[in-house]
Amino acid sequence: MCSFGDFPKIDAHIHFNSDQDTILEVAESHNFDLLTINTEVPAFPSIDKQQVLAQKYRHHSKVDLFYAATVSTKEIFRDDWAEKTIKKIKKDINNGASGVKFWKNIGMSIQKPDNSFLMLDDNKFKPVFSFLEKNQIPVLGHQGEPKNCWLPIEKMTVKGDKEYFAKHPEYHMYLHDEYPGYWQHINARDNILEEYPNLPFVGLHLASLEWNLDEVSKRLEKYPNLAVDLAERIVHLYYHAAENKDRVINFFRKYQNRIIYGTDIISNPTSNPDSVKRDLEHRWTTHWQFLATNNKLNSEEIDSSFQGLNLSSSILKKIYRKNAIEWYKL
Ligand SMILES: [Zn+2]
Repeated sequence: MCSFGDFPKIDAHIHFNSDQDTILEVAESHNFDLLTINTEVPAFPSIDKQQVLAQKYRHHSKVDLFYAATVSTKEIFRDDWAEKTIKKIKKDINNGASGVKFWKNIGMSIQKPDNSFLMLDDNKFKPVFSFLEKNQIPVLGHQGEPKNCWLPIEKMTVKGDKEYFAKHPEYHMYLHDEYPGYWQHINARDNILEEYPNLPFVGLHLASLEWNLDEVSKRLEKYPNLAVDLAERIVHLYYHAAENKDRVINFFRKYQNRIIYGTDIISNPTSNPDSVKRDLEHRWTTHWQFLATNNKLNSEEIDSSFQGLNLSSSILKKIYRKNAIEWYKL
């Protein structure tokens, strides 16, 4: 078995949004490099500020902080949006960005002048995807939500989702028929994969198909330039492992070159550094127990206990580092 501390790793999905170095300190002590993903979340600092922070902390002692840029949708309905966006992406790539994030506000909140929802496969985005495909710039796609979001609270599979959607009814799509359904988001994303077969695309959060690994596999088979990350969805793998551990192990074996580790830890200006540190160390150590050992495990997120996957060190090296380096060209 490999030892956690000695193993060089990358957490390829964090949000480094505040001017303090807690995450970098913790990363150094646990042998992690990091990729911060700029995202147009209303509660985050502006995209420009996120980018400035990523560049400011690019090298910190032994830790590399890589970053992915994102598109601003502020002027999305102007005719020159695509042209300006491509110009900005060129600049971001020259400034060290490793890819471009498309967030779930596309599909879940932006409405067109006719009140319909702007989906990822809208013509608006096509010149941008053509440019990204032509230049082999990776897209980081977060479309939709976990399928639990479209289920009543009592049917949701993991406790984090139950708590989150109980607290945020405005995001609980089961209550909002007027919004696009789960499969509309998945289909819009799949249409892009179909239309741009050479576009390197990382489906964040298990490509929003966390509820069924066969659905993830189907797309990995169909789209050779698709990879997935595990950010904030490892708990769903606990759930699958409790049901059938071997199926989860087979998934990792089969797609060992296309799965990227990440936590989705967020440090905002208002975050308490001590709780960020505790949360991050908790995630890193429990995920390692799950992926790298065969210990019997429990999680507050699900009712049943489950066993660690005990993945081989060559698979762990890929999931924890090599795949991020290759897919994001770090
Ligand atoms: Zn994220």
